Amino acid sequence: MTAIDTLKLTDKRQEISKIMGFDSAEDILEHYPSRYEVNYLNKKEEFIKGARVTFKGKVIGPTKYIQVGFKRSVVRFKCIDQNDQELNCTVFNRPWAYQQIKEGHEVIVIGTVDGPGRINVVNYYIDKDIKDILGIKPIYPVKADVTQAMIKSLIKHVRIKMRGQIEDDIPLSLRKEHGLISREEAINYIHEPKNADEYKRALSRLKYEEFLNFYLALYMRQVPTSFKKAKSFSLDKINELISGLPFKLTKDQLSVIKEILIDLKSDRLMMRLVQGDVGSGKTIVAIIALYANYLAGYQGAMMAPTEILAKQHFTSVSELLAPLGVNVALLSSSTKERKVLIKRLEDGDIDIIVGTHALFSDDVKMGKLGLVITDEQHRFGVNQRKRLLAKGDDVDFLLMSATPIPRTLASAIYGDMAISSIYTMPSGRKGCDTLVIYQNKIDLVEGEIKKVLREGRQVYIIASAIDKSEVDGMVDAISLYEKLKRVFDPYVTGLLHGRLTNAQKDVIMDDFAQNKIQVLVTTTVVEVGVNVPNATCMVVYNAERFGLSQLHQLRGRIQRSNYKGRFFLLCDGLGEDVKKRLDVLANTSDGFRIAEEDLKLRGPGDLLGTRQSGLPSFVLGDLLNDRMFIDAAQRDAHMILANSDRDEYQKIIAKAKQNISDSLG
Ligand code: ADP
Ligand code: MG
Repeated sequence: MTAIDTLKLTDKRQEISKIMGFDSAEDILEHYPSRYEVNYLNKKEEFIKGARVTFKGKVIGPTKYIQVGFKRSVVRFKCIDQNDQELNCTVFNRPWAYQQIKEGHEVIVIGTVDGPGRINVVNYYIDKDIKDILGIKPIYPVKADVTQAMIKSLIKHVRIKMRGQIEDDIPLSLRKEHGLISREEAINYIHEPKNADEYKRALSRLKYEEFLNFYLALYMRQVPTSFKKAKSFSLDKINELISGLPFKLTKDQLSVIKEILIDLKSDRLMMRLVQGDVGSGKTIVAIIALYANYLAGYQGAMMAPTEILAKQHFTSVSELLAPLGVNVALLSSSTKERKVLIKRLEDGDIDIIVGTHALFSDDVKMGKLGLVITDEQHRFGVNQRKRLLAKGDDVDFLLMSATPIPRTLASAIYGDMAISSIYTMPSGRKGCDTLVIYQNKIDLVEGEIKKVLREGRQVYIIASAIDKSEVDGMVDAISLYEKLKRVFDPYVTGLLHGRLTNAQKDVIMDDFAQNKIQVLVTTTVVEVGVNVPNATCMVVYNAERFGLSQLHQLRGRIQRSNYKGRFFLLCDGLGEDVKKRLDVLANTSDGFRIAEEDLKLRGPGDLLGTRQSGLPSFVLGDLLNDRMFIDAAQRDAHMILANSDRDEYQKIIAKAKQNISDSLG
């Protein structure tokens, strides 16, 4: 880092640096353009209405000045451009142009074509060397009163000051291998590219650098691969369990199970993420993993993000494994005999424990923990992983997620975690019709819903707010419930939301599961994992407020049977954006594609929830489109760490250490 006061900045430039928040020469040099304007003299055929054009012309005839009202004015002049076109140019609200542009002058104009031979002048230049205007012009992000000219001159000044002193952390061997230019060249090119090629070379170098630094830090921060006792179990017993299932496992389920069994048998700790769309059948995969772990003589734990889900998992696990002699228990914040249960866990009396976060508390100890599974939880950080490892030496770890994350992003977040994917749905599923309705009223689909109810199926109605006070303009669950219980009478309508106690929630969920309630008005508490196969219809109010992946998750709730699902998205906005987003959902059921769209349209923060911690933000790099750089950077980061004693790697390793302590501090 080069401190800013060594740069001999003028007062003005110091002030600009302060406004922009620059603390070092590096900050200034890494303030990259957000885009470029390319100005070249346009050809005649490029003068199409609406186009932005640049031309050089000679002013013919007198310039005219017209005052329009008090503050507004128009200056008009005529010129002949490099294509011999006669152009009528208009300059709005810059009265001084009348003094500056005179008959016979050479001018360069950047403007938009208003019609044949008519130009609206955006900028004009007189007496200027054409080279200063034509070419590629960087445009910088600026703050407050800082102008483009100021920031450009500041950056240029620092570039000149720092000439020959910009260090390159990337080992020369890697630069050679990838054909990358030096850091100094890249900095110069990105701020002042003479042509597209220079820009591209700068970008390649800087993106690779960003990714390499990122992955180095990521891998260095990671819990190192640990070893454990290999687990052994009888495959026959597992096959027996599988052949006793009421359905045939899909090809993807089988291959994921195989991957997990291999991990369990190996002497390295398993760190595996299983991702698959809602309803793709991840639970049974988890259960088989728990069973194998049990057969190997270990206890297992399965963690869910909500009580509802924990209970459901408890039921599924018990149904399949209790008949085989496995002791399964549920631990949640509402467990009454917590002490007794904890004691039994410690004694090894319980084989599999299902619960929420409560499982992480310090007082929960297990005699012989061998496997932990967390469901639907992408916020599982390094720290939690460490706490987990502290619970036992042989603890394998499996993470299940129904928020399909594009591979690139997954590897950025989970680093070295092995990833298994279930792409295909169990056969027999009828899928789902998705209909977007540009009105936040149920009226248009009321008939459809009643039809669903008459057929004996159940309906979810999702509102994004609990009550009126929450957010303006949103339909809220409580008012909706009051209204809909009349609309759908004699069918029973229920209300479920996050402010109810767990006991209240359980009662309502149970009633819904047993079809004592047919219409469930609820908030997104049902989002994760809940399984009521007979509910085949869902209406989402204010759908424009949701991320696509989240809506896709919700849609998964109604595709758990052999009946075709009906998914109605009600929204207020007729906005193009809203339409474009929701159409993606209507047109595809592939969660991975939807996640990518979400990522493109709203950025990773939204996809994973804004509180996602540790999510990298790249200045130039793009997790979705820079696959090539990412692959190379990951490979090289491993290679550097494997050879961390080599001299040429010292600089970049030191930098990664610095990055880590910065991000923690
Ligand atoms: P998710 O991946 O969302 O957790 P679940 O594991 O809850 O999905 O599975 C959804 C439903 O599909 C459950 O009722 C489950 O019993 C059923 N299921 C799972 N695998 C299959 C399969 N291979 N064939 C048919 N039904 C299956
Ligand atoms: Mg699930």
